[in-house]
Amino acid sequence: MAVKSIWQISYSCGHQAERDLSNRAADRRAGFAEWLAKQVCTECWRSAKENNEQDKAAWLKAKRAEEQAESETWSEQYRMPPLEGTELAVAWGVRCRHQVLAAAYTALVLEGESSETEWEEVEEAARTVTRAGWWLDQRSSEPDDLTELLQAAAEADRPTENPHF
Ligand SMILES: [Zn+2]
Repeated sequence: MAVKSIWQISYSCGHQAERDLSNRAADRRAGFAEWLAKQVCTECWRSAKENNEQDKAAWLKAKRAEEQAESETWSEQYRMPPLEGTELAVAWGVRCRHQVLAAAYTALVLEGESSETEWEEVEEAARTVTRAGWWLDQRSSEPDDLTELLQAAAEADRPTENPHF
């Protein structure tokens, strides 16, 4: 009698299914069937994976909302004006501005040579840049470069001089 190729597997999740083990060597089937019985069935495995991904997405969403709330509180505390742009850009821009300024404060004041008075000037300059897209663009900038970047923004914002002058 040939070793059977269709095995009835009772999975650890409680489901049962017939598995065709004909592609395994005859002497390996019993061991493989035993290993399968310790797993969950394909469907349970798939739904566990989906749940996991949903959990991950929900976790990311919650984390982003938390950061958003923190950045908005911070913006109010430091009297940062509302940003301009699309709704999405504004929300993201608020987080970027918070992140960029917090990193610059650490680098310039806490770890650097800048005084609180000098920092207040940086903050003042930061308040004048209300374009959300600008803050998005600076999100990976070096903290030390912020002063120079703000200066460039202020120059770009300056009204164009009368060409006939
Ligand atoms: Zn199952």
